[in-house]
This record gives sequence, structure tokens and C-alpha cells, in this order.
Amino acid sequence: MDISVVIPLYNEEESLPELYAWIQRVMKANGFSYEVIFVDDGSTDRSFDVIRKLADDDPEHIRAASFRRNYGKSPALNTGFGMARGNVVITMDADLQDSPDEIPELYRMITEDGYDLVSGYKKKRYDPLSKTIPTKLFNATARKVSGIRNLHDFNCGLKAYRRAVVKHIEVYGDMHRYIPYLAKLAGFSRIGEKVVHHQARKYGKTKFGLDRFVNGYLDLMTLWFTGKFGRKPMHLFGLLGSFMFVLGFIAVALVGILKLYAMNHGQHYILVTDSPYFYLSLVLMLLGSQLFLAGFIGELVVRNSPKRNDYEIEETIDLTSKD
Ligand code: UDP
Ligand code: MG
Repeated sequence: MDISVVIPLYNEEESLPELYAWIQRVMKANGFSYEVIFVDDGSTDRSFDVIRKLADDDPEHIRAASFRRNYGKSPALNTGFGMARGNVVITMDADLQDSPDEIPELYRMITEDGYDLVSGYKKKRYDPLSKTIPTKLFNATARKVSGIRNLHDFNCGLKAYRRAVVKHIEVYGDMHRYIPYLAKLAGFSRIGEKVVHHQARKYGKTKFGLDRFVNGYLDLMTLWFTGKFGRKPMHLFGLLGSFMFVLGFIAVALVGILKLYAMNHGQHYILVTDSPYFYLSLVLMLLGSQLFLAGFIGELVVRNSPKRNDYEIEETIDLTSKD
């Protein structure tokens, strides 16, 4: 099968028939073999009834799953990724903001240009300013932290993947915003971008508020930390801890030595506990030891994780005779 289209949705009953008819048209015109996987993220409207109806009319091409409650876009995507059988997997939002007309070119970029992942770029956006301005900042930060310099729009719902990518990454929590970063951390580094058409939301309303930016920032920090130090937490905490401890130790020693020196030379001196540096040093040494301990605890957690030696082996060579 050429293409799996994965569509996460939450209360999008009005858009679904129109969206599916459009996808069907594009697939037919290009002669793709395909499936469309709807993942209903616990909708409370009639979305899943609509999907049931669509599947009755076109059983060959539609598969669907529905959550009992609303878990979020990432769990919905992850479920769709698990189900997908096509060589190229394309995700798109259900609200008709993404255009199915982009599918053929995205497919071509994966199969011919050799990309692992191609992300849409909503260069001209039809969203309120309150969303587009923070988004610019969000993307600049994500580019910097992830090191994926060529992406302008990490969170675009329209993306295409080589099949292996979706089978090897795990999207959880709210991590759908950083799928390119997840892919990069899993070793899929050929990441491209395609400018895509974007439309204003036709039906229903957006499911995400401004808290997305706070949570998005925290998630980015989490990914940065787990990506860099997930298997060796001591390298971060130990370094910071040692640095603070040593700094505090030197400072407190200096306070003591200076006092002793002044005392022995008959100069004016103050009690060690009267010096503000004494207290700063105490704080530094305490925090330093705490960080160091956090590192040790982190190492114990890693040591007990069944995944600590889980690596992605892309290919092996073993030509020895097998007897
Ligand atoms: N969505 C979902 N679960 C949620 C929230 C959203 O599956 O908890 C789906 C939603 O139905 C849509 C896509 O994720 O298909 C993008 O959501 P939305 O259009 O609200 O986001 P925006 O375009 O405003 O960024
Ligand atoms: Mg939308």
C-alpha cells in the first residue's frame, strides 16, 4: 500500500464528510493505493457515527478507532501510527485547515527525494494574530534547541513520514508539537519542509488555547534533557553539582583564611558568620550536594530501566557461515 492518511479528530463532525470526499478525489486522480485511518479522540458529538457511515460506503479504504475519553492529539496520532500499513504515512488535521491536495507532492518527496520526514509549513496562515505571533517565537526556540535549523513550522498538522519513522517513535503527552525532534532523536535526520496551503477553520473551533505555549516550552525542555542526558543524568547533575560545591567550598575557605590572617596580623576582622559570603557559600555547597544526589538517583533509575540498552539498529552484516 502506498499511503496511510492518519487523521486525529475531536468533535469535528461537520468537516469529516467533506474532508474524506476530498482525500478520495486526490487519491483517485493520482492512482494511489491508500487507507484513511480516523482516530476519534473521545469526541462527544456525532463524529464517530459519521465515520461509521463513511466506512460503510467505502469499507476498502477506511479504518478507524475511537477512544473512550479525550486523551489528546498525541495519543491519537500514536494510535494511528500503530495501525498504519502504508509505505508513506501522512497526518493531517480533521478541520479542513490542511489541504489534501498536498498529498501527491509530499508522497513524492518521501519516495523520490529520500526524506524521512517532510513537515508542512503554513507560510501564509489563516489564524488569529494571538496565535501566529507566539508561534513564531515557539518555532525559533524549537529550531535552536532541537538543532533542526531548516524547519519553520514544527507543529504543522500536515506531515509525511517514511513508514519506519512512525513505527519507531513514540508520541505521548503533548509531544506532537515536536515530532521532527522526536524523529531526529530516534536517528531519522533527513527532515524536509514543504510550503503548504492553509485555510481558516470552516466549522467548529480550535481545541487548543494559549496554554499550549507554556506547555510547549516545558515539553521542549523535557525533550532536550531526555535526549541529551536521558541515559546519563549524572553528566548534567554531577557537573552542575560539583561546580557549585567547589565554588562554595573555595569561597568559605577564603572567608576563614582571610579572617585568620587578619587576626594573626593584628588587623581588624569580622566573625565568619558576619560575612554574607559565608551564607552564600553554604547555599552553594548545599545545592551542589543536592544536585549531585539527584544525579545519583537519576543513574539508579536509568540502571533499572529495561530500555537502557535499547538501541535502534538500522542494519547488520554477518556473512559468517552459520554452523
Ligand atoms: N485534536 C484531537 N484531540 C484533541 C484536540 C485536537 O484529536 O484533544 C485534533 C483536532 O480535532 C484537529 C487537530 O487535532 O483535527 C488539530 O486541532 P485544532 O484544529 O483544534 O488545532 P489548531 O489548528 O487550532 O492548532
Ligand atoms: Mg486547526
